[in-house]
Amino acid sequence: MTLSIPKIEKILQAKRLGDSNAIIETISIDSRSLQNNDKTIFFALIGVNNDAHLYIQDLIEKGVRNFVVAYIPENLQGKANFLIVENTLTALQQIASHYRSLFTFPIIGLTGSNGKTIVKEWLNFLLSPDFNIIRSPKSYNSQVGVPLSVLAINEQHNLGIFEAGISTTSEMEKLEKIIHPTIGILTSIGSAHDEGFENLESKIKEKMLLFQHSEVVIYQKNNSVEQSILPETNPFSWSFTDETATVFVSKKEHTHEHTTIEYTYNRTVSTLQIPFVDDASLENVISCLSVLLYLEYDAKTIQNRIELLYPIEMRLKVKNGINNCSLIDDSYSSDFQSLKIALDFLENQKQHQKKTVILSDIFQSGLSNEALYSKVAELIISNKISRFIGIGETISTLKTKLPNAFFYKDTNEFLEQLESLSFENETILVKGARSFQFEEIVSALAEKTHETMLEINLNAISHNFNFFKSKLKPSTKMMAMVKAFGYGSGGFEVAKLLEHHKVDYLGVAFADEGISLKTAGINLPIMVLNPESTSFSAIIQHQLEPEIYSIKGLNAFLKIAEQKKLKDFPIHIKLDTGMHRLGFEANTIDDLITTLKGNQAVKVKSILSHLATSDDLNHKDFVQYQIALFEKLSSQLMNELQITPIRHILNTSGISNFPQAQYDMVRLGIGLYGVSNDPEEQKYLENVGTLKSIISQIRTIQKDESVGYGRRFIAGRESKIATIPIGYADGIARSWGNGVGFVTIKNKKASILGSVCMDMLMVDVTEIDCREGDAVIIFGESPTVTYMAEQLKTIPYEILTSISQRVKRVFYRE
Ligand SMILES: *Cc1c(COP(=O)(O)O)cnc(C)c1O
Repeated sequence: MTLSIPKIEKILQAKRLGDSNAIIETISIDSRSLQNNDKTIFFALIGVNNDAHLYIQDLIEKGVRNFVVAYIPENLQGKANFLIVENTLTALQQIASHYRSLFTFPIIGLTGSNGKTIVKEWLNFLLSPDFNIIRSPKSYNSQVGVPLSVLAINEQHNLGIFEAGISTTSEMEKLEKIIHPTIGILTSIGSAHDEGFENLESKIKEKMLLFQHSEVVIYQKNNSVEQSILPETNPFSWSFTDETATVFVSKKEHTHEHTTIEYTYNRTVSTLQIPFVDDASLENVISCLSVLLYLEYDAKTIQNRIELLYPIEMRLKVKNGINNCSLIDDSYSSDFQSLKIALDFLENQKQHQKKTVILSDIFQSGLSNEALYSKVAELIISNKISRFIGIGETISTLKTKLPNAFFYKDTNEFLEQLESLSFENETILVKGARSFQFEEIVSALAEKTHETMLEINLNAISHNFNFFKSKLKPSTKMMAMVKAFGYGSGGFEVAKLLEHHKVDYLGVAFADEGISLKTAGINLPIMVLNPESTSFSAIIQHQLEPEIYSIKGLNAFLKIAEQKKLKDFPIHIKLDTGMHRLGFEANTIDDLITTLKGNQAVKVKSILSHLATSDDLNHKDFVQYQIALFEKLSSQLMNELQITPIRHILNTSGISNFPQAQYDMVRLGIGLYGVSNDPEEQKYLENVGTLKSIISQIRTIQKDESVGYGRRFIAGRESKIATIPIGYADGIARSWGNGVGFVTIKNKKASILGSVCMDMLMVDVTEIDCREGDAVIIFGESPTVTYMAEQLKTIPYEILTSISQRVKRVFYRE
């Protein structure tokens, strides 16, 4: 896109400060993108929990000149060009809607409760031989995602496919103006109760607003839907039961891998073989089929294309690679728009300095090879990619455009050379069109461990963080506890995410944990809860901030601090108000004051204490007692030392149960990882960790035969037994065995038979239709860690932090 600043000003009816006639080529809302430059206009969106105006200063330093803002942040007036609007999101939508109106080719708009993204991806696949398609990347279907998707249209495209997702009334009206679809598809509407809607009818009505200007709407035949179709729009229905539907699907038969259907359209009966057997996929395929019929494809072409459909893995997954590499697996698509997204994702994973991109030929851009690859080269260079590997015929166009680039004619040739290329301590983005089968590259570069892994949903961490943040006064600071590898969820990755959320402090237990975060590039201040005297030097060297909890520790630290001639080095004073673990007791406060008075080497950055019973309302009085003592002792320190440090006493359950004691900061731990001890509150948190494995082997045993060590399980009937490669050495308690615990396979419970072994356990799958290699959930949505903890008479903290480091952690964002 190209738009001039005066033009944008006019569309937005904005007030302009600064004079610029710049031509804008990209619109950005992501402050972390390396693609931001002087041709970017940055829209400073304000979310519930995040205000992008905070990043404007950084962006100016990085060379961005133009901003759409709701206000000008302090001290920035005159430093860049600002277009001031009432609401920056509305402005983004206005630009997108203007931009959309410049194009007249057909646009397919999808909405529905389920299946939107899949149908969109499948339609893209089915129609790509005949069109240059622009589609929303991943699931960019929100009030923010839709405008960004539409703004990526260019002159070469001749078909658009965009999805619209809404969560409450009045949102669709806005998305309709931006997408303005000519062909509408309503995917599965679902019976799920949606919070934002009164009932199913009003939900359907709202969704149908997307199609108010469409020439046709495709849907599963249903009265409520039909009532909402306007007279100018043609209905195009399909049904399994109603012969009057435009497409009537009559016969279904299935084998293990295929479903064969018979459908009637225009009084002609045809058969179609579909490579799926589940109902949801079947409905999604029929939505696609309807589009193809509407576009007048013949039955044979339809069959040829549909038979090649594949399940869609939508997430960009981060995996551990060989030689301490990290891999980003994007081995299912290769187009320019998704390359941009993948490169931003790569930039956000700062595990390593070095970044390699392995990329296949790019398809469907509509541009000439020369023009396309010039743009790709620009992107690769602006993203500071250290090494580039191109695979395919056309991508070698890049040969003269990139330094440190290597080219192979196909995936096999690359795999043959793999040994001679070295991959070490770097992040590798593997991105290729499906026909290149880059999954083979991913598997060659992936660390070879067993199949058990702990999947960490980074979006869920963001969600939980924001949930607790919303409970605080705006001025209350937040320290996030990332001790014990982020409660087992990955210290660095979690810290990196929290840094983005502008958390104020991190807390770790030991100096080592803090040092590895600092050396990996975390810049947040980090408090060390339990610093040993032997680590004081390292603490100072790495700019960590020790918690000081005794006179002895204080003197030892002061000695080193004075030797190093430090001035105002931040320390944190821990008071013991009743936990009786670490901290200055009431009778040592005078000593503490005497030692600190007039001392220049250190500065009391904060005063803290820890509650013993914040999670148990039966002990409310004790909490009140602790809070009162904290108030008294901390006030004494503040008065006599004439200081105003940050005060903090609340952990997760303290935030929920004793909000009046927020003081200046809180320390959020377990809640971040999705666990609350209050079942009501638990409903608002999202599950973060899912411990997964696979079935290694299945066997059938006869009645009276036994399973495992000590023959502790004897079969009461003929039974089907599955072996799972995870055991107590991975952190699964032995007491979870012998019928106490279960795992989930194909959404069904499989109870653990006999004792948990060191590296394996066996489960009963007699009633479950499963195969070797199928996925197994050890914990996550079911069983939850909270349930496990109850059964095992422990607490979720212990379960999470017991998962051994040999279990690989895989991080993803939706
Ligand atoms: C671990 C810890 C926290 C966090 O507790 P949660 O219950 O996980 O929120 C807070 N403060 C201190 C001192 C801790 O050790």
